[in-house]
Amino acid sequence: MESKLTILGCGSAAPSLLRANTAQILEMAGKVILIDCGEGTQWQMLKRKISAFKIDIIFISHLHGDHYLGLPGLLNTLSLYGRQKPLKIFGPKGIKSLLFHNFKEAEIFPNYKVSVIEINAKKKRKIYNEEELSVIAIPLQHRVPCYGYHFEQNHNSLKINKEKCDNASLGFDAIKEFKNANDIVSGGIKYSYKDYTSPYHFRKTYTFITDTLFLPQLASIFPETDILYHESTYLNNLLDKAVTTFHSTALQAAEMAKLCNARLLVLGHFSSRYPHTDELLAEAKTIFPNTELADDGKIFIIK
Ligand SMILES: [Zn+2]
Repeated sequence: MESKLTILGCGSAAPSLLRANTAQILEMAGKVILIDCGEGTQWQMLKRKISAFKIDIIFISHLHGDHYLGLPGLLNTLSLYGRQKPLKIFGPKGIKSLLFHNFKEAEIFPNYKVSVIEINAKKKRKIYNEEELSVIAIPLQHRVPCYGYHFEQNHNSLKINKEKCDNASLGFDAIKEFKNANDIVSGGIKYSYKDYTSPYHFRKTYTFITDTLFLPQLASIFPETDILYHESTYLNNLLDKAVTTFHSTALQAAEMAKLCNARLLVLGHFSSRYPHTDELLAEAKTIFPNTELADDGKIFIIK
């Protein structure tokens, strides 16, 4: 199954007409994952025809408004329309009381199970590991506790050698058994799946890093990644401002992409001082050519 990333919003600070606040949908390993949920995320999902009902897990980086204020509204809508599927939410310490306080005071009684898991980690920590998907939380350095997330899909299956099957006149039923690593007996002859298949493995990774000082030491956590989304709130001529506000520049994002051998760098979390983001792109490309800009509604395929 194809893995893809849909940018729902990539603007920093307050909502603007230029771009929505941070939110993304990652479809990976058969799961639909919402990463951050800035104000207006529901509108962005409606526009992109993405159903909130399909979301399996939500990861929130930190509790600044531009990254989570859309969440109470989203949960309210799911409750209103009778969601039943359980929902898992990961976020920094404090997210649980914020959400449950809202439920309590607004008298919202979700008919679906909401599990809120607070992360309180000083070092990288694997916080999710189910079926083919694992997620590592990466502590960042921002003005409030903030986490990046590294998503990894590990797929293992058996690839059928069609020619061999044809030569032995083994049909659909045999292939089905071989795919499940079962041997078969046909016409008194035993056929081992190992003779008709080969192991097939692929790995896909996506790394989401937003709202942080430039932290080159993170590259050891994800020494390789298919797509790195890295915040680039400012151009490097505003490095001082980036440092005092605990943000990064486009040049630093590119430096990180180089350090962690990213296949593709996606820049995002742009300051509203940049109506056009070409300069941010050009700056990053000076040291990491395979860079693209995030934009509301833009889709990236993770190959
Ligand atoms: Zn922030």
